[in-house]
Amino acid sequence: MSKVHDVLVIGAGCAGMRAAIAAFDQGADVALVSKIHPVRSHSGAAEGGINAALGNASEDDPEQHAFDTVKGSDWLGDQDAIEVLCTDAAADVYELEHWGAVFSRDESGRIAQRPFGAAGAPRTAYAADITGHVLIHVLYEQVMKRGIFTYEEYFAWRLVVEEGRCVGVICWDLLNGGVQAISSKTVILATGGAGRLYVGTTNAYSCTGDGMAMALQVGVALKDMEMMQFHPTTLSPTGVLITEGCRGEGAYLLNSESERFLKDYAPKAMELASRDVISRAEQTEIDQGRGIDGDVLLDLRHLGGDRIRERLHGTRELSMVFAGVDPIDDPIPVRPGAHYHMGGVDTDLWGLTSVEGLYAAGEAACVSAHGANRLGGNALMETITYGRRSGKAASDAARELPAAEVSEAARADAGVQIKALLDRSDGERPHGIRDELAQTMHENFGVFRQEEQMLEQGRIIERLRERYQRVVVDDKGSTFNNDLTQALELEFLIDLAACMIPAGVGRTESRGAHARPYDYPDRDDENFMRHTMVTKQDGELKLDWAPVRVTKWPPGERTY
Ligand SMILES: Cc1cc2nc3c(=O)[nH]c(=O)nc-3n(C[C@H](O)[C@H](O)[C@H](O)COP(=O)(O)OP(=O)(O)OC[C@H]3O[C@@H](n4cnc5c(N)ncnc54)[C@H](O)[C@@H]3O)c2cc1C
Repeated sequence: MSKVHDVLVIGAGCAGMRAAIAAFDQGADVALVSKIHPVRSHSGAAEGGINAALGNASEDDPEQHAFDTVKGSDWLGDQDAIEVLCTDAAADVYELEHWGAVFSRDESGRIAQRPFGAAGAPRTAYAADITGHVLIHVLYEQVMKRGIFTYEEYFAWRLVVEEGRCVGVICWDLLNGGVQAISSKTVILATGGAGRLYVGTTNAYSCTGDGMAMALQVGVALKDMEMMQFHPTTLSPTGVLITEGCRGEGAYLLNSESERFLKDYAPKAMELASRDVISRAEQTEIDQGRGIDGDVLLDLRHLGGDRIRERLHGTRELSMVFAGVDPIDDPIPVRPGAHYHMGGVDTDLWGLTSVEGLYAAGEAACVSAHGANRLGGNALMETITYGRRSGKAASDAARELPAAEVSEAARADAGVQIKALLDRSDGERPHGIRDELAQTMHENFGVFRQEEQMLEQGRIIERLRERYQRVVVDDKGSTFNNDLTQALELEFLIDLAACMIPAGVGRTESRGAHARPYDYPDRDDENFMRHTMVTKQDGELKLDWAPVRVTKWPPGERTY
């Protein structure tokens, strides 16, 4: 297998595989890189569904979908990006269906659609509560059908930019050990989110934001990094996701007084208000002493055993296995947990970054279709629509670009750095630093934020970074050295956490996931219809701003 490609996609979740398929279908020589087997990507854990205005359950159209998304984003989403998403969504979902995605059906045989939070119509197509599992296998089949090569269990570590152009990536080969260079005319980052920045998270162990951190290193701006979404129903205490589909099917949220407390926060939409609103309501109830051991309760009992078994089978199993609770008989203990990064690598509408030849798609990217708060079901849709677009754009660009090659010097330099890390025998192992980072991010940059806490977190991150300079990798072996890759991931996490601080402190307002009830409780459209843009220049982080692109929806009140 030659190691020179037209398009190299780093990440083989839904976004990466959809991008690779699009690039291949445009005639490019394309390969995927993934640190885990493609079907183990976090996309496979998605439960609730994917949003497209198919109009099967009731009247709906892309414009209504776009408005709900703009409002859900608390007017921080770029409206042109949202319009692209909502306009292309239906055709993209039908394509998945034609490839074999077994969506659940309504009585007439059409794709069924369930109501999801803050959606004006039942718009979420689903395959029971294993939608991501179904999609990832369908995409993997399409990748295999095309014979697209995958560098499986390759850990991408450094992007290589030569003369202003991205020409490939340096990887650690997990199976055999050793530093490998892969050259490509264009590179697409599709490495997913960074939920592992937090101790209570729905995200898989692999969600360490590697691609965002790699982009930062080569000078690309990270956009809206303060916007980490907390999902209101994560299972206590593990953080395993309990899908929004439960509330879509009619589940209640109760406090310790058995009250549906959302009547005080979102009287119209109740349990179907948007995620940031519900997470804040839960945290307020818990903080004011109406929680139960730091949790609230998600009650499904009135839905009845048959419906729970048929539509929410996976949820029941997760509750029984991880919390010992059968939701047919008892309510599930839940709390807000870190779930989705609205922020990420700044791209244009085709996934292109500020570096020639470098693209990003999926959760790693910030095109910005979600602004300050993502609606449930829109992330999977974004992986497909923007994955496809970035694959097409990267292959088009590759046709015009001369051949690319990672220089031997770049590969050798990376080899020296990794060897130095492996050779160190004295110091601290990574996991203590990683746990402390996740714990303190949760405490100081959680559902509610205030200036002093965020600044304190900044100081904690710098102390953790100093400790990281002396991190030691115990395993010196070359085969499946997860000890090494976890150390490399930790550096990525520290870099990303550091970016969140200036962005969070700089946004002196409350908008979507960025809630500052104590110092800046209101949204400030006059000053903050702007994205935070953090870059690294000469080793220092720099905060800039970019205006939100508004097409037809001026900012309005956001009540549910
Ligand atoms: C539990 C859970 C449930 C969800 N449910 C829904 C839902 O119902 N609907 C919805 O719309 N959204 C949902 N989301 C969000 C959505 O699933 C994700 O945002 C989306 O799937 C991310 O896809 P992705 O392709 O960008 O990244 P991922 O699927 O996370 O894939 C990342 C890929 O990058 C690779 N990678 C990462 N780092 C490296 C590296 N250094 N080197 C090589 N490879 C690397 C990984 O191996 C992997 O293949 C859910 C998320 C979670 C966590």
